[in-house]
Amino acid sequence: MIRDSSAFSLRMTINGSRFELDFESEIQYTKRLMEQKETINRRGFGLKQEILPLLAENYHSSLIDQIKASHYELQAGSLTICLAEEFGFCYGVDRAVDLAYETRKRFPDRKIYLTSEIIHNPRVNSKLHELGIEFLKGNGKSEDAKASLDLISKNDVVLIPAFGTPTDELEVLKSKGALLVDTTCGSVVAVWRRVERYAEDGFTAVIHGKFDHEETQATSSRATQYPNGRFIVVRDKAQTQKICDFILGKLDSKPFLKEFKDTASPGFDPERDLQKVGCANQTTMLSSDSLEIAEMIQSAIRARYGTEEVPNRFRHFDTICSATQDRQDAVLKLARSGVNLMMVVGGYNSSNTGHLCEISSEFCPAFHVQDAEEIISRDAIRHKPAGSSKVITSQSWLPEGPIRIGVTAGASTPNRVIEEVILKIISCAGF
Ligand code: SF4
Repeated sequence: MIRDSSAFSLRMTINGSRFELDFESEIQYTKRLMEQKETINRRGFGLKQEILPLLAENYHSSLIDQIKASHYELQAGSLTICLAEEFGFCYGVDRAVDLAYETRKRFPDRKIYLTSEIIHNPRVNSKLHELGIEFLKGNGKSEDAKASLDLISKNDVVLIPAFGTPTDELEVLKSKGALLVDTTCGSVVAVWRRVERYAEDGFTAVIHGKFDHEETQATSSRATQYPNGRFIVVRDKAQTQKICDFILGKLDSKPFLKEFKDTASPGFDPERDLQKVGCANQTTMLSSDSLEIAEMIQSAIRARYGTEEVPNRFRHFDTICSATQDRQDAVLKLARSGVNLMMVVGGYNSSNTGHLCEISSEFCPAFHVQDAEEIISRDAIRHKPAGSSKVITSQSWLPEGPIRIGVTAGASTPNRVIEEVILKIISCAGF
């Protein structure tokens, strides 16, 4: 255990990989915020009780409560619905949605903006829009939030979504003098701290994530706050192999920089910037992929510099959040239990929902649907196949006879939407 004036760090080495955990006490956290003298609210307005009825009206499902109480199963004729043991809203989404509703309640007459979708679920975003909250980006708005920042004045309130916001955008928002309500999830902030620590210590952050995802943009911006902070974002194992090939001298700078021209920090020099690397990941990636990616890079470093140099040149911290991990573990258990097909409910731009579909599809037919409307009939369903970026329509998705259908949902999916999907499946099955 190492102590310094600002935090506690717990460092350990398992199977040659170095892990670190940072802790900041509540007192230190509060002191830091006070020193920043910023108009940022991260704790809400104490209006939880007042907003509960509206939250229940919009998102609650008594059917889901009933299924949970019946050992996560629902029988309808010869159809059995099997619900995963972990699904739907996570702690970060719960908090973000609560803060948004509290903000509306606290400031009924002020203009309230969201810098982007608060979470990746169309139902939640449209409910916030109905409450008069305006989106600077996403939910049908332009993809360039910076272009919309001019709209903000000091009398306005700006909500920062659960994914956080890049540092340059945050600076502009602060300069506007508006009240900022920051709903960034604590698990995302933990990744930022890790990436900042890498930058402070001269390690390049290798971030396993989707470069255009809001969270990964916010995370990568934390590295470049430091004079020599660097990052590179890798999407998958194929891209990671290119990093390994460069480290091992099998790939030149030119093709390397071509591959990563849009996803590395400005002025990235692989010769200089891949000598010391620290791995992190977007919180919602497939955890098995993130671990493999870290192992691939560690092996390349070992092969190039020798085992004794690994602790000096390689760091790894698994930043998959516990909610994502729990949902991935639960869907794996359910898919392995012998269901005939899996229905995965969540926004099509929800990264964690997509990964639940990927896991399921290894065991049975899996259908990622945004909501009940996507289930057109017994014979037709609109869905996003595992690993695809396109929504397609498939026929004859619901087999005849007694079947077991597994149901799960991403961390941003309200129970009400899951209920609607289950009721539609039952109705398509003729029960
Ligand atoms: S998925 Fe994880 S990181 Fe994202 S909001 Fe939920 S708890 Fe936080």
